Amino acid sequence: MSNFIYFFKDGNKNLTNLLGGKGANLCEMKNLNLPIPNGFIVTTEACNQFLDNEDNFFEILKPQIKSALVNLEKITNKKFGGNNPLLVSVRSGAPVSMPGMMDTILNVGFNDDVLKKIITITKNQNFAYDLYFKFIQMFSEIVMNIPRKEFEKLDKKEFQNPSEKITAYKNLYKSLIKKEFPDNIEDQIFLAVKSIFNSWNNERAILYRDLNNIDSSMGTGVVIQEMVFGNYNNLSGTGVMFTRNPSTGENKIYGEYLLKAQGEDIVAGIRTPEDISHLEKDMPKIYKELITIGKNLEKHYKNMLDIEFTIENNKLYILQARVGKRTSEADLKINLELAEENLISKKEAILRIDVNSLYKIINGKFSTKALETANLIGTGLSGSNGVACGKIVLNSKNIPEEGDYILVREETSPEDIKGMYLAKGILTAKGGRTSHGAVVARGMGKCCVTGCDALTISEKEKTIKINNTILKEGDIISLDGHNGNIYLGTVDIEKKTLNEDFFKLMTWTEDFNNLKVRVNADTPEDAKTGCYFGAKGIGLCRTEHMFFKENRIWNIREMILARNEEERNFALEKLSITQSKDFYEIFKVMNGLPVNIRLLDPPLHEFLPKTLEEKVYLSNRMNITLLEIEKRIELLKEQNPMLGHRGCRLGVTFPEIYEMQIKSIGIALNLCKEKNIKASVEIMIPFVGFLEELQYIKSIITKTLKNHDYKIGTMIELPRACVLSDKIAKEVDFFSYGTNDLTQTTLGISRDDSAKFLHSYEEKFIYKNDPFKTIDKEGVGELLKTSINLGKRENPTIKLGICGEHGGDPESIDFFSTLNIEYVSCSPFKIPLALLASAQSEI
Ligand code: ADP
Ligand code: MG
Ligand code: MG
Repeated sequence: MSNFIYFFKDGNKNLTNLLGGKGANLCEMKNLNLPIPNGFIVTTEACNQFLDNEDNFFEILKPQIKSALVNLEKITNKKFGGNNPLLVSVRSGAPVSMPGMMDTILNVGFNDDVLKKIITITKNQNFAYDLYFKFIQMFSEIVMNIPRKEFEKLDKKEFQNPSEKITAYKNLYKSLIKKEFPDNIEDQIFLAVKSIFNSWNNERAILYRDLNNIDSSMGTGVVIQEMVFGNYNNLSGTGVMFTRNPSTGENKIYGEYLLKAQGEDIVAGIRTPEDISHLEKDMPKIYKELITIGKNLEKHYKNMLDIEFTIENNKLYILQARVGKRTSEADLKINLELAEENLISKKEAILRIDVNSLYKIINGKFSTKALETANLIGTGLSGSNGVACGKIVLNSKNIPEEGDYILVREETSPEDIKGMYLAKGILTAKGGRTSHGAVVARGMGKCCVTGCDALTISEKEKTIKINNTILKEGDIISLDGHNGNIYLGTVDIEKKTLNEDFFKLMTWTEDFNNLKVRVNADTPEDAKTGCYFGAKGIGLCRTEHMFFKENRIWNIREMILARNEEERNFALEKLSITQSKDFYEIFKVMNGLPVNIRLLDPPLHEFLPKTLEEKVYLSNRMNITLLEIEKRIELLKEQNPMLGHRGCRLGVTFPEIYEMQIKSIGIALNLCKEKNIKASVEIMIPFVGFLEELQYIKSIITKTLKNHDYKIGTMIELPRACVLSDKIAKEVDFFSYGTNDLTQTTLGISRDDSAKFLHSYEEKFIYKNDPFKTIDKEGVGELLKTSINLGKRENPTIKLGICGEHGGDPESIDFFSTLNIEYVSCSPFKIPLALLASAQSEI
């Protein structure tokens, strides 16, 4: 028969799946000779078998637990119900950390007889009763689902003596459960173990797993461990410590503790705890020991850790350690510093950083200017970095899926998890930096301000008061998770809060980046942002975007609707002036780095007026009747514009448009020459399917643009172009793969309409991903490979790149890095992500 029990000395941290994270780490630490109270683990396998087949299985498990309990008595030299009574905690611990989602029961092994014995040996009646109260309350709450507040009601009553209160507690239990409170210690333990098993499937655990993509078949381990007592006397206490600051990453221990308190008191955020730095004065020996243990554990785990400890009568015990949750900003700093301290390699540091977390770093701070005039109405503790503005909501169930909301609570509990997920920020009155709210928010990378003493909430009136400010639900506040500040109204968020660490990481990635990253930019601003983030050129300048700026749209409308060549040329002339200026500004920013300019691509009707008001304005401006305008618009309408009159087809039918664009490039290049600005231009022809199309447009370019150095290339975005890449390659200097259109044309699904059915396809695993987000490796990927091989064969010096949304998707980048291409191009704010992803795939 299988063995379902592991004593701490028999396990290690690699057995997380079998023992749960908490149990496996307790084993590891026991074997490092750290002060860990003795205990054993009932495996996750047992949990799963129990959940499949409750009672039958438990009968098999019982004898194993019983003999483990006897063994534990031997090791601890105490006996359940004995003169020196053994008490244990029964703790849940899943393979993946799910903070606060499941349950733990303390002081199991208690009854009236044990009470007497504890009073006899400790001579401390208050202490003994405190344990007993906690036990009955926790057991009732966790095993029998009696709400804590039922006991809190009793706590408010006056009792002659504590034993009366015990009786009242037990009577409450009996009245609700219709059974006596179990005095038998074995029963207590068995019931506790079962309830921990069952807690794997409680509602909040299920929701947490859903939100975090955690496999629900893992099950939880159960740790049964000798109790140590943080509430024993004034030299006792309990606390939580991070080996580095989980909010900023600073290499300094961080955390809090409560003297004369037992475990849950601190995690639940009920009493506001002391900052860990005070422990240095309160208990210097313990403080030093904690620091040493922290450093050693960091060396061992090669990571920042979150450690739960208890002090009993001036002796330190470690009750839990795990890799600490942290903000993205902290994660970055910690990993870079661990590498600099030689605990991990640079490569390891790069691999550890989650590409998506870079986004959070990029997204984070109030603008300094806005802060000068912002109306500060209160402060709390910095629970989790980041900033947020939104409408106040008091009930986490009332937060809509969309929009900006701030969840304001007395304190958060695991029931609030969905609301926290939906909210932009979280504000609580109670609880410290390690309270539930702060821990969960940090995991979500969400701004959180906790412990705001000045905050009171009236659920009834639906109002809150922060110092002297009274606000209604729906009023807007802004939270600064970096320092705990709370502002009235909206405060502007500054997009770029990039620090030294960020740029250090970007520099480190350079050593590993074979794939260059360019930016998709059609304004000087985007070009600047791209360069700031490390772009090595512009991979796609969509010239049509320039036409939407300011009043230019009217010029292009005039051009499209022109009645004759004269009118058309006049409109084109006006467009040329603005377009050449745009090109010049972009060349200036890029200062010699390649700029890939795509000739006009979208169907013309995209530019046309839609509202009557616009049509009337245009008819006056062009001196054409409204009727005529409407007729012309009707003529340009297409059933299927994305496969219609677009791309190089525009150049074939209206060569004068492309001529204008090419002329504008020439004007910009002349200006650059005059001003001694380096410019390197690549002219890109979109939507080519036939060699002859390419040759025709190419002839327009070479005819129009003389006396300048430039490169000509094409976008490969049609399957036909892929399979004819050998022929096309002979005519051009570069290919840029337009993977958006290539996906659309290869899969035969519309970029604009596919959202309606894509989710069914993903749900039914017909598509693994949204093919517009992550490249379809098997289909589109194969076409890319074909094209690359053919292209390189006929033109070995051809330059190859990728533009399109896939250029900013980490999984796609991973695939692209296996291809023989030079660069990917993506939007400015995705560049750091692309740089990191490309380094990670090289390592
Ligand atoms: P969680 O997974 O919610 O953190 P734990 O099992 O870690 O739950 O228990 C919560 C707290 O209870 C611990 O941080 C610790 O302070 C206290 N605790 C658990 N087991 C013991 C024990 N054997 N002795 C003393 N305190 C304990
Ligand atoms: Mg808990
Ligand atoms: Mg814990």
